[in-house]
Amino acid sequence: KAKLEQAGSIVFFSERMGLDAMERFYTAQALRHAVGNGELRIYLQSQCDTDGKLVGAETLLRWEHPDRGLVSPTTFIPLAESTGFITTLDRWVIDQMLEMIHQHQGELGDLRFAINISADHFAREDFVSHLITGLHHHRLSGHHLTLELTESVMVQELRLLVSKLRALAGLGIEVSIDDFGTGYSSLSYLQHLPIQELKIDRSFTQDIGGNQSGRAIVSMIHNMAAELNLRTVVEGVETEEQWQYLKHYPNTVVQGYYFSKPQPMDVWLAANLSGKSRARHSA
Ligand code: C2E
Ligand code: MG
Ligand code: MG
Ligand code: MG
Repeated sequence: KAKLEQAGSIVFFSERMGLDAMERFYTAQALRHAVGNGELRIYLQSQCDTDGKLVGAETLLRWEHPDRGLVSPTTFIPLAESTGFITTLDRWVIDQMLEMIHQHQGELGDLRFAINISADHFAREDFVSHLITGLHHHRLSGHHLTLELTESVMVQELRLLVSKLRALAGLGIEVSIDDFGTGYSSLSYLQHLPIQELKIDRSFTQDIGGNQSGRAIVSMIHNMAAELNLRTVVEGVETEEQWQYLKHYPNTVVQGYYFSKPQPMDVWLAANLSGKSRARHSA
């Protein structure tokens, strides 16, 4: 009987795999069309320092599928990563952001916009040169940009990695390590990297309220960052309790639903920029 059950479950399993593969195939195809069809949207989520001053925003991609509604990036980004399409998506976001920065140059002050970059895209030989071309095209320096990379970029050869990061720094672009603490960071690597920021993963933020060990991890990352002269960003701040705990940390930026949810880019810009250059455009 066990054998039958086993056999049955194998059949069931492979059927499911087939459907999943099909589903993935069609979704991947639809995603390719999404760019040309104008179905992609950029959302922005505010980042503030612990005095409450707005310092920038993270760009988060959304897919407005005509039938399925808003598709989460946690679904389509991994799919795009596995099909190699992620470079096209990341570059689309970069392009849109450079265009926006160009249009609003006069009213951005010190604001920085953090863009998520997938490891495979970053690993490309032409990553930096493509970015430089984009900046030149819009006649911009990189000082309104932060790139969020994950710990997985550290699989690259250290010398190559450092030279890319130096090139970015030379353009005025800052680099943040996203979801810090969840990957395979080599701490000895970290001290050699010309980066500016560690972004503490949401899973640690959630534990701040609960128990002592959750706080221990957050405070350990803060202390290490301070030693390395890095700023921290705490992502996923949702509660008053978490905020009360975090607001005493020096050199920290906070981001999360407690302060604001990601908003469509135009909504965010209208709410957070002075509107000086918009007024000028329409005058
Ligand atoms: P991430 O870069 O770690 O982004 C943070 C995620 O946490 C976002 O999810 C954001 O909406 C969500 N979040 C923000 N505040 C809170 C909070 O207080 N509570 C909770 N529970 N969640 C919060 P989202 O927008 O679904 O994005 C998921 C992931 O997709 C991102 O994680 C990032 O890895 C990836 N992603 C999004 N846009 C892009 C993109 O343009 N390019 C690439 N390569 N990846 C992207
Ligand atoms: Mg991010
Ligand atoms: Mg993150
Ligand atoms: Mg995260």
